[in-house]
Amino acid sequence: MSSSIELTGYSQLELAAFVQSLGEPVYRGRQIFVGLQQRRLRSFDEMTDLPKELRARLNEKARASTLTIESRYVSEDGTRRYLMKTHDNLPVETVFIPEERRDTICFSSQSGCPLQCTFCLTAQLGLLRSLTSGEIVEQIVIALNDAYGVGVKPPRGTNLVGMGAGEPFLNLDSLMKALRVMADPHGLFIVPNRVTVSTAGVVPRILDLAKMPDRPHLAISLAAPTDDLRDELMPINKRWALEELLSACKEFEKTLKPGERFTFEYVMLAGVNDSEQQARQLANLLNRHELKAKVNLIPHNPADPLPYQPSPEETVEQFRNILESKGIHTYVRRPRGRDIFAACGQLAARHETRPSLIQPKSIGA
Ligand code: SAH
Repeated sequence: MSSSIELTGYSQLELAAFVQSLGEPVYRGRQIFVGLQQRRLRSFDEMTDLPKELRARLNEKARASTLTIESRYVSEDGTRRYLMKTHDNLPVETVFIPEERRDTICFSSQSGCPLQCTFCLTAQLGLLRSLTSGEIVEQIVIALNDAYGVGVKPPRGTNLVGMGAGEPFLNLDSLMKALRVMADPHGLFIVPNRVTVSTAGVVPRILDLAKMPDRPHLAISLAAPTDDLRDELMPINKRWALEELLSACKEFEKTLKPGERFTFEYVMLAGVNDSEQQARQLANLLNRHELKAKVNLIPHNPADPLPYQPSPEETVEQFRNILESKGIHTYVRRPRGRDIFAACGQLAARHETRPSLIQPKSIGA
């Protein structure tokens, strides 16, 4: 008997097969799916539409939840960060970001991360392990239940971003499985069009994703306009350099739907990658590949052990103007949840609520 079968990552079809293996009719599978995904229940005992005897058997053979919530931090700006633990005691973090017209849930694809980007706190954990599809789905269930109550339909749309801890493209199978489960209209019903997955540049997986008809949107973390600098900031660049990465993006571009664009993320590190010359280099790089992408500039979220400061606002503005003047749509991402260590690059299983942040404002290069 295995008590570790996690049903949270199961599709309706898989649940049908599972209940059949217990000698139950197929419709019980559908009931369990609705219980887990639409009613967002995290135990079989709450599924009172199932016979008691079946609930007891399910408890013996499987699990309706595996993550436990360790801490929850609420930011001044309403952002919430959840620090959870897997059954084998590894940290998983999820961020819920309420906005006027929608909510965004930033989920993790791995516990820790094997990539060693020098500006990201998660890198310091190293890779603990990749998450299962069930653990990915559960993060969303937990965040929605906490925000609105168990099973309550969210009043606004829910967007998902695969921008939490980990490199999603090093866990693509579980990720896609989770996204397919979540897209089911009888479940969470969060369709791929509402999902963006971010990669540090695992080129072969970008090409794989391009071939999937039900793929989410894509974002690419660039952080540097030249190989020399990118090698230093994001060592994955030594494996797949900029030319190769942007050629893969060009391939991916062929699969964009009308109105769809992909995004380049560019973390702004004072005096490191934010000069006017680097803005021009970045614009030229993207234009040379004739990429119709947009760029999101992310002010660096500083944290104690990281050797960087965020670029001053004027520098970010200037950088943006240069990109725009060269025809590249550029947005500046407003940091959310910095005070609770929930902002980009800050997920490292911290327990503090008031991190000792060096406040950005007027720190120059
Ligand atoms: N591994 C994936 C998913 C993580 S996404 C990837 O690299 O894309 C996290 C985003 O936050 C990335 O765009 C990353 O460049 C950015 N980021 C990392 N550390 C940051 C920091 N300290 N401040 C601001 N953004 C950061």
